[in-house]
Amino acid sequence: AKERGRNSVRFFNQQMQADVSARSDIATGLRQALLQDEFVLYFQPQLERNLGVVGAEVLLRWQHPQHGMIVPASFIPVAESSGQILQIGRWVLEKSCLQLAEWARHTDTAHWYLAVNISARQLHSSAFVQEVVSALEQSGAAPEKLVLELTESQLLQDIDTIIDKMQQLNTLGVRFSLDDFGTGYSSLSYLKLLPLKQLKIDRSFVRDLLTDPNDKAIIKTILALGQSLELAVIAEGVETEAQYSKLLHLGCQQFQGYFFGEPMPQTSFVTRYRQRHEM
Ligand code: C2E
Ligand code: CA
Ligand code: CA
Ligand code: CA
Repeated sequence: AKERGRNSVRFFNQQMQADVSARSDIATGLRQALLQDEFVLYFQPQLERNLGVVGAEVLLRWQHPQHGMIVPASFIPVAESSGQILQIGRWVLEKSCLQLAEWARHTDTAHWYLAVNISARQLHSSAFVQEVVSALEQSGAAPEKLVLELTESQLLQDIDTIIDKMQQLNTLGVRFSLDDFGTGYSSLSYLKLLPLKQLKIDRSFVRDLLTDPNDKAIIKTILALGQSLELAVIAEGVETEAQYSKLLHLGCQQFQGYFFGEPMPQTSFVTRYRQRHEM
């Protein structure tokens, strides 16, 4: 037992060593990525019941010179623990606001909003409100076109400070959406304290909606909650027509998922979804 213990400790240390150097490689890469402009924003459509595109969620990609396109799961956790998420998040906000300002200049794209993911560290940083305000001011983007996506777990600490920050931004017109809703551990009582506009049903509930009665019950509950708290509800991860029609039938107001469109570069997004004004 002692021998095995020692081996597993050694194994664990080697594993940790490998993880540490992989993580520090990524951290070094991320510093480069910011300097060399290797990050790209992808856009995934959000639709209303009539299937009109009302906006997009901004999803970050890292266009690595050697490794190709890297998805957030491979670098956001490292950026979170190294603190680089603060700079990356600010870059995402600035770019998103510049994009909004650009879309606002064309009649066929001017109605779109952008939903930007905010990490816990960003939200808890004392500079957060000012960063959002300067991104808006420097780009000239309308605050009403900016939605910030938070997750429940970010709201467990310092709730009073968070509410204060949200209210400051809300006063300017910025809206908040609660992402991955239903997967957190927090109580529902704070929901009415927060200046939220939207709940986003986590895709884990949408996935088995047609086969798992529990998931259907959870979705119905979230929709009822949205109605009584006067919050819009959007479902993410909609992959099939059957999921879409079920959600429609249950009264869901907005939709996002591969069934309607995958995350894509800006030019593809505009080509595919801009409003055409036929004569
Ligand atoms: P999320 O906020 O829950 O974003 C939705 C994720 O689901 C995206 O993954 C999206 O590509 C994926 N998705 C969309 N439709 C479908 C579908 O129909 N089926 C399935 N299975 N998946 C779908 P992605 O782009 O890999 O992003 C993963 C996570 O990384 C995001 O989860 C978000 O938490 C984080 N993230 C992405 N961009 C940013 C960012 O700019 N800042 C921060 N802090 N986090 C980001
Ligand atoms: Ca999100
Ligand atoms: Ca989500
Ligand atoms: Ca999710």
